[in-house]
Amino acid sequence: MGQELPKTTAETSNYIATSRYADVMAFIAAIQHADPDVRVETFATTTEGRALPLVIAGPPGIVTPRSAHAGGLPVVFIMANIHAGEVEGKEAAQMLLRDLVSSHRRLRDDLVVLIAPIYNADGNEKISTEHRTNQLGPANGVGVRENGQGLDLNRDYMKLESPEARGLVKNVLARWDPLVVVDLHTTNGSYHGYQLTYSPMLNPDADEELIDFSRDTLLPRIREQMKSKHGKETYYYGNFVDQLTPEKGWYTFDSRPRFGNNYTGLRNRFTILSEAYSYIDFRARVEVTYEFLHEILDAVDKYGPKMNKLAARAGERIRRGKLRKLGTRFEIKAWKDADVLWEKSVPAEPGSGHPDPWTGHGMIQRTGEIVPVRMPDYGIFVPTERQEVPYAYVIDAAPHAVIENLLTHGIVVETLNAETTLKVEQFVVSEATRAEQEFQGHHELTLTGKWKSREETFPAGTYIVRMNQPLARLAFYLLEPRSDDGLFEWNFFEVGKVAPVRKVEKPVALEATVVAQD
Ligand SMILES: [Zn+2]
Repeated sequence: MGQELPKTTAETSNYIATSRYADVMAFIAAIQHADPDVRVETFATTTEGRALPLVIAGPPGIVTPRSAHAGGLPVVFIMANIHAGEVEGKEAAQMLLRDLVSSHRRLRDDLVVLIAPIYNADGNEKISTEHRTNQLGPANGVGVRENGQGLDLNRDYMKLESPEARGLVKNVLARWDPLVVVDLHTTNGSYHGYQLTYSPMLNPDADEELIDFSRDTLLPRIREQMKSKHGKETYYYGNFVDQLTPEKGWYTFDSRPRFGNNYTGLRNRFTILSEAYSYIDFRARVEVTYEFLHEILDAVDKYGPKMNKLAARAGERIRRGKLRKLGTRFEIKAWKDADVLWEKSVPAEPGSGHPDPWTGHGMIQRTGEIVPVRMPDYGIFVPTERQEVPYAYVIDAAPHAVIENLLTHGIVVETLNAETTLKVEQFVVSEATRAEQEFQGHHELTLTGKWKSREETFPAGTYIVRMNQPLARLAFYLLEPRSDDGLFEWNFFEVGKVAPVRKVEKPVALEATVVAQD
């Protein structure tokens, strides 16, 4: 120690610029020079050839996932810049890293902090002042939302079509198995009174105890600290369904696990999505994100052992076969009435104002006045359709991409040792509808049909996925024919009259061999 610690590009430019890839790499190198206990791994290489850094800051000697978990240390993973126009997370994460080798070294006695400061590096390098022009700075411009393939990485968690997402899931989420995943963004929508909004996992197929702890304890604690220590208002992420009539309600976004926060929930882990408010200036956004990160680490420092226990219990319940039914379709629901801070907005005079930033219609004028308004908070989702969780899925004539996808997620896949006759449920398709509009290169598929029982004989080598494994919630979501974000939805399967995935409902003895995770 004693070396001079580096400054971020945001700091040295007086907040008119954000870091480029080379700046981030130089910053990390300077941190490592100052503290050789900080380690760096590459977790993916982008389509344009950039190696994505994962910085590991924990107690000396804790250098592998095995040593971290053996020591019972909570692992917190912070990722920034998944949308490379939303850049303050990248700056705040670097500042936090600097604190972890200096003023806040103490936090590393109890936690292992993993930081991926520049996830969408290819998008970041396309910095231009033409991007996100409604966002208040940085004046020198920001990158783009998509990766080098034109994909939105925050829609790629299930299908894993980008090298970034495959590397993230395999080398960070599956390998390090972080207890908490923090994903840093910037808002696009409504005019409200919060410098930062946040969300836990929103898919109710996640473990109920983890959802409840997030909403009852973890997030309220962080919110209260943000207010008492930093004097800043924060709340659950949302938008007014109508900027001019806020009483109609505050709406969160989406329950599907193509989004990172929902995906992490299906892995039985905690997650916090952070959205800095795009209408405060760049420096203020960096600061609030930085403070929010500190309060997350403080909260995990306080609750880590309890959270570790809850996460372990979530896995244990699955192993004991307690998972009976899970949702495949969902709808948004109000969970409480809340006083939400609204920026008073009025109808614009003809020829002035601008459209509601969330809905795109209704010409409005902002007033700058913030007032609390009582309204329903549409902050949760509930299942509208549920399906049985089987003992095992049998995948008939599995395309290679299906097995590769499951293995990358870390799901245990087996093959039958010999020809086997099983009583199965098969999904007889009555309708297969492809979305007219293309999304992320796909016309998403919706299947309707009915489950029918029958006996079927499968050859040796047929793929099996047992559901007494920790990632059963995720496996269910990927393999159910009716799933709103599974491998059927994303067209991984050839679908004829019968969906090529069967369900074995009751436990049976299956002679099978585990497929190696390469
Ligand atoms: Zn975003």
